[in-house]
Amino acid sequence: MIAECLSIGANNHLQIGGVDTVELAKQYGTPLYVMDEDQIRKNCRIYKDAVDKYYDGNGLILYASKAFSCMQIYRIMAQEGLGIDVVSGGELYTALKAKFPMEKAYFHGNNKTNDEIELAVKHGVGRIVVDNVFELGRLDAISAKYQKKTKILFRIKPGIDAHTHSFIQTGQIDSKFGVALETGEAMDIIAQAAKLENVEVVGVHCHIGSQIFDLAPFELAAKVMTNFMADVKDKLGLSLSELNLGGGYGIKYLDSHNPVEYDAYIRSVSEVVKDTANSRGISVPKIIMEPGRSIVGPAGITLYTVGAVKEIPNVRTYVSVDGGMTDNPRYILYQSEYSALLANRAGDKPVKPVTIAGKCCESGDLLAEGVMMPEVKAGDTLAVLATGAYNYSMASNYNRIPRPPVVMVSGGKSKVAVKRETYDDLIRNDV
Ligand SMILES: *Cc1c(COP(=O)(O)O)cnc(C)c1O
Repeated sequence: MIAECLSIGANNHLQIGGVDTVELAKQYGTPLYVMDEDQIRKNCRIYKDAVDKYYDGNGLILYASKAFSCMQIYRIMAQEGLGIDVVSGGELYTALKAKFPMEKAYFHGNNKTNDEIELAVKHGVGRIVVDNVFELGRLDAISAKYQKKTKILFRIKPGIDAHTHSFIQTGQIDSKFGVALETGEAMDIIAQAAKLENVEVVGVHCHIGSQIFDLAPFELAAKVMTNFMADVKDKLGLSLSELNLGGGYGIKYLDSHNPVEYDAYIRSVSEVVKDTANSRGISVPKIIMEPGRSIVGPAGITLYTVGAVKEIPNVRTYVSVDGGMTDNPRYILYQSEYSALLANRAGDKPVKPVTIAGKCCESGDLLAEGVMMPEVKAGDTLAVLATGAYNYSMASNYNRIPRPPVVMVSGGKSKVAVKRETYDDLIRNDV
């Protein structure tokens, strides 16, 4: 199985966290997001334990909440002792309403509005990760208004692009995020910020990509960034205490994917940061890592009911389900690959490739192509796997399709974390 939390029961049904998915589909209806809360907590602990083990506890794991944001996930993160990364006023507000301790929240974003900055400052968000000079001035002014000295990090472009299979180290100046190292822009903005009354520069941040399977780009980023912190000390006499290395750790969507063990990232990055800091004669910084996908992705599945099955001889077989790009836009956005199986006949031998299609009015509304399946019939329950990240959080109401609920399972029991949207929810703001 693709994920640890999945298994096949004696009745040949797919189980998540030991709970029968066919029963869940009956009880809550489809489409349905299901997440294994125990697995989410376990993933959090792997990261946290690794910081204790390899970095003397001198670090903080932030859950990158854009991967999956709702009040319940912020409560879980608070209970697990993680911080959070938020990237909008909406995520921040959701965390606030869930009573998340705001001093452990980091606020990112390349174009924060004044309202968002004000919300963050007012509620004592722990760190603001400043992206650009335009933001810096406004943040200083808003902090002054609230008589606060806001602790900030800067988003740096370290010149490492790990979005591809083999990462490249080039001038990666062409990104909308952050300030560049190699042009001197990063050093300049820190010098400028150091003179401001109402902000305190405490560190630097980078995020080099997503769904990365190698350690090497992270090690390189750690080295480049720690060296930059030493350069800041040398040039400006400013000691920075925090190094935030972002997220991007890959997960298994397909059998062929081979992600690195989660704790290996922290182990190897820890060594690089310590070695570099020692050799440059600066104190070892607190490290911050921001996994999103790897905490929630493997812990989630989406259940659908199969409707029309359309066999086009010598072309392909379309299996249409009662959801699609509205609950999982990742295929239509970037041809992301997923594994799928029949939840009600999970152990049956796959006999032919099918294309899983959604119900939206777009030809590109597919969930997966070339997936091997047993003979599929209308009424089957189909599960798409490893959908816990960037599915619910990217869902839309295209075609006025209500968003599915999120159900969490834990200790063999299930409960609703987000209710199913109704038609009345869809017209709530219509005038
Ligand atoms: C998206 C993002 C993350 C999380 O990335 P994952 O691939 O989900 O681990 C962390 N930090 C920043 C700044 C991000 O933009």
